[in-house]
Amino acid sequence: MESPELSFTLAYVVFALCFIFTPNEFRAAGLTVQNVFGSWLGSEDVGFIQYHLRRTSITILVHSALPLGYYLGMSVAAPENVGYVQQVTTYYVHMTLQADCHVTVTESTQHELSPDSSTPVEMLTLRVESINPAVRPFGFRINSTDYSDFREKLGAPIRLSPNVVIHQTISDLFLETFRAQVELNQPYTLPGGQELELCIGCMQVPARTKLVRRCHAAGADNESECQQCFCRPMWCLTCLGRWFASRQDQQRPETWLSSKVPCPTCRARFCILDICMVR
Ligand SMILES: [Zn+2]
Ligand SMILES: [Zn+2]
Ligand SMILES: [Zn+2]
Repeated sequence: MESPELSFTLAYVVFALCFIFTPNEFRAAGLTVQNVFGSWLGSEDVGFIQYHLRRTSITILVHSALPLGYYLGMSVAAPENVGYVQQVTTYYVHMTLQADCHVTVTESTQHELSPDSSTPVEMLTLRVESINPAVRPFGFRINSTDYSDFREKLGAPIRLSPNVVIHQTISDLFLETFRAQVELNQPYTLPGGQELELCIGCMQVPARTKLVRRCHAAGADNESECQQCFCRPMWCLTCLGRWFASRQDQQRPETWLSSKVPCPTCRARFCILDICMVR
């Protein structure tokens, strides 16, 4: 028969684990350090630094009182209205002024979550360095799908270490924007009698794009102006988008939408305004 000490020990270990790892049930019941000591911690919005100084101190105190090692949870935030890049972990708050920092993507790794999930998860390792020598560099990892959101909030260019390619972010997120932009263009009506062929890139779907020079912005010289393409519809929007993306400066995604690329078949230069959906 089980002794009361063993039952208590087991219950305590479960409680301690739950208190540190705070499952949703514990959060809902308010059993977190932030909640229990809420009135002493004050408001995070009013006194961010004071709040986190107190929170980290009390967390260290409370957790070291539990017979367990440590737990590190992290969240990353770069709120635009504050102008800081912060990394909030259980025991530390790293912080640097947005204007002072350089962010570099140092690594990108792909992870297959399960054999039946078709899309692998891409994790990016970012390093934040400040020009202020008093601020120690710090790093964190994010899912590549959160990368463009982070970059937008950061409001500054992020460097890519040599050999780092962000697959999902660059191609997939660009394709979304690319598609939305093309949908705004005037459609092209196929002349009577002409049938849509399969896309010669993927051979999966009809080639629903046609390049018609519609832009009027004159370039500085003829070299930079768009040209008329006389090809019949040969590419689907996804394949054309991938082609468009592949011809860009991979280090400067912010320039992609505004640049010109050659038609994959006849090499006539076109821009995003010249891509029409075939109706
Ligand atoms: Zn295609
Ligand atoms: Zn062409
Ligand atoms: Zn154009």
